[in-house]
Amino acid sequence: MSSHRLVTAPPRPLLALPPRPALRRGLWALPLLISLAFVAAVLLWLRADEHAELERQRTELISDALSLQAQVSARIEHESALLAAFAAALEARQLSPAAFAAAPEVQQGLRRFWVALTWLDAGNRIVAHVPDLAPRPDLPSLVATGLSAHLRVPLASGGALVARYSPTDMLRQNVPWWLARKYDVRLVDSFGDVIASTTDNRDLGDRQFHRTSLEPTLSDAYLELIARDRVTPWYRSLPVAMVAGFLVLIGAITALLRRQVHDVSRAEAAWRTEAAWRGAMEDSLTVGLRARDLDGRILYVNRAFADMVGYGADELNGLRPPMPYWPPDALDESMQRHRRNMAGDAPRGGYEARWRHRDGRPIDIILFEAPLVDASGRHIGWMGSVLEITERKRLEERERRQTDTMAHHARLTMLGEIASTLAHELNQPLSAISSYNAGVMNSLQRAAPEAAPVDPTVLRALQRLGEQAAHAGRIVQRIRQFLTRREPQLETCSLNAIVQGGVDLLRREIARQQVQITLTLQPELAPAVADAVLIEQVVINLVRNAVDALAAQPVDPERPRRIEACTLQTPDRRFVRIDVRDNGPGLQGRRIEALCAPFYSTKVEGMGMGLAICRSIVEAHHGAFDATEAPGGGAWFSMTLPVDLPMTEPAPGAKALA
Ligand code: ADP
Repeated sequence: MSSHRLVTAPPRPLLALPPRPALRRGLWALPLLISLAFVAAVLLWLRADEHAELERQRTELISDALSLQAQVSARIEHESALLAAFAAALEARQLSPAAFAAAPEVQQGLRRFWVALTWLDAGNRIVAHVPDLAPRPDLPSLVATGLSAHLRVPLASGGALVARYSPTDMLRQNVPWWLARKYDVRLVDSFGDVIASTTDNRDLGDRQFHRTSLEPTLSDAYLELIARDRVTPWYRSLPVAMVAGFLVLIGAITALLRRQVHDVSRAEAAWRTEAAWRGAMEDSLTVGLRARDLDGRILYVNRAFADMVGYGADELNGLRPPMPYWPPDALDESMQRHRRNMAGDAPRGGYEARWRHRDGRPIDIILFEAPLVDASGRHIGWMGSVLEITERKRLEERERRQTDTMAHHARLTMLGEIASTLAHELNQPLSAISSYNAGVMNSLQRAAPEAAPVDPTVLRALQRLGEQAAHAGRIVQRIRQFLTRREPQLETCSLNAIVQGGVDLLRREIARQQVQITLTLQPELAPAVADAVLIEQVVINLVRNAVDALAAQPVDPERPRRIEACTLQTPDRRFVRIDVRDNGPGLQGRRIEALCAPFYSTKVEGMGMGLAICRSIVEAHHGAFDATEAPGGGAWFSMTLPVDLPMTEPAPGAKALA
C-alpha cells in the first residue's frame, strides 16, 4: 500500500494569504536602524561630554590663573617691600659701597630672589653692584634663565636701588607643583613674546589657555596658563572606536541577516508557487482526495471530492463519521467499513462503495486508502483517493443489457435458422408422407373391388394421416415465420462504424484471452446499404470464432495471439469488403461449404450454426461470404457487400431470414 507524505500544511489556506507587506520584507534592516540610532545617541552624548569637559577645564583654568596671578603679584610686592626696607636701612646705616655687598639683606636677597642688586646715585651712575659684573659660576646666568626683570626703589638721598631678578626663577618658585603638573605657565608681554616660561614647549597647539594681566604689579606683563592635558575630541575617544567596531559588526550581521531573509523570502516564494501549483493541480484533478486523521476526522478534501459529494470543502473539513454523504439506509455498513479502514484493513486494490450526493442521487465510487505520514515519518492519518464510477457502472449495465439483448437476438436468429433448416429438412419427408399417403389412398381405392370397398376406417385413418402431415408442415412453417419474422432493415450505414462497434462489444473477451486486435479501417469508405445490426452480428461471430480458435491453442510468447479486422473497397468502388484474419490453427483444409453447414462444429459446446447464419445474412444482402487460409497460418474470413443494394427486392439468400 503506497503512503502519502504530508510534508507541509495543506496549501489552501496559504493561497489565501495576502502578499507580504513591504514593511515585513524590510524587517531585516530594523536591527541596523536601531543600532544606528543607538550609535547616534552615543556620539551626541560624547560630544556633549566633550563640551562639558572643555567648559569645566576652562573654569578651572581661569580660577587657577587668578589664584596664581594673586600669588605672583603678592611675591613681587613682597620683594619690592623688602627692597624698599633695605633702601631705608641703607640710608639709615650709611653703608659704604663695600659694605653694601656684604649687607645681610643683600646676601639674603641674592639667595632668595634677586639676580643682581645695583646701587645708583642721583646721576644714575653705579655706586655699587652685586654680584660683580664678572660672571659667577655659582649663580645662574641670565642667558640660561631667560630675560630678566627689575624692581626699582628710589633712595631718599637721590639715586635708586635696582634689584634684577629672573622671572623664570620667580615662576619656578611661585608655581606650586600641582599647578605645574596641570599647566605650562608663561609670562608674556603685550606682543605675545615670552618673557618667562616653566617649559620650553612654545607651541600652544589646540590646548586651552588663559591670560591674565599682572598690572599694576608688573607693567606690560601677562600671566598665561596653558592646560597641559588636551581634552580628547569626542571623535577620537575610545567609545567612538568601540562604536565604530560595533557598527562594522552590526553591518556584517545585517548583511548576513539580509541574505538570510532573502533566502527565506525566495524559499517562501518558491513554496508559495509550489503550493499554488499543487492547489491548482489538486483542484483540477478528477480524482477526489480526502485526508483524515487517525480518528477519521476529515482534515482536507480537494475540489473534485467536494464536487463529487455536493458539499463544500469548508462544510466537510473537521467532520467525523457518520459522514453526510453516507446513504442513510446503509449507515451500519458504512460505519463497519469505516472501522475496518481505520484499523488499516482497507483492501489494497481499493474497494467500491455507494455514496449519496447532497441532492439525493446515489453515486458509485471506488476508493483507495493509504496511510498519511508527516515529514518525520509519523503515521498521522489516512489519505483516500476517490474515483467516481457512476457513469462507468451505468455504461457497464447498459452494455450488459445490450449483450443480453444481442445474445437473445442471436438465439432467436439461430432458432429461426434452425427452424428454417428443420422446415427445409422436414418439408421433404412431410411432402413425401403426404404424397405417399395420397398414393396409398388412391391405390387402395382403385384396387379395391366394388364388392369389397376399402375399409372406410383405414381410408379415414390415411386421410387423417395426410391432414396431420400437412398440419405438421404448416406448424413448422409458422414457427419458422414466427421466429424469423424480422426483415432486414436496410439503411445506408458505415461499415467502419459497424466493425468498430462489433469489436468494442467483444473487447473484454478479447483482453481476457490475451489476444491483440488490430483494426485497419479504410478511411472514406463508401457507405453500404445494409442492415447494420445483422452485419454487426456477422462481425461479432467471426471475431468470436477467431478468439475461440486462438484460445484453443496454448500461449506462445514467440507467436502472440493476433486478430486483424479490415475494411476496404474494391477498385471498381462497387463493393466493400470486411476481412477478419487470425493467426490461429487455420481451416485445416476445410472449405467454406463445410464450415457453413448447419450444425457443423468442432467445439465441445458449439452449436455449429454461427457461420451458417453469417452466410445467410451476407447472401440476404446480395453479398459473398468466403473463407481461406491466411498467409502465414490462420483463418481468413471475408464478406463482400455491394455498395448499392436494390432496396426493394430481397436477395435469394434472404429466404432463410424472410
Ligand atoms: P460454432 O462456433 O458453434 O462451432 P460456427 O458455425 O461458428 O459454429 O463454426 C463452425 C466451425 O468452423 C467451428 O466449430 C470451427 O471448427 C470452424 N471455425 C470457425 N471459425 C474458425 C477460425 N477462425 N479458425 C479455425 N476454425 C474456425
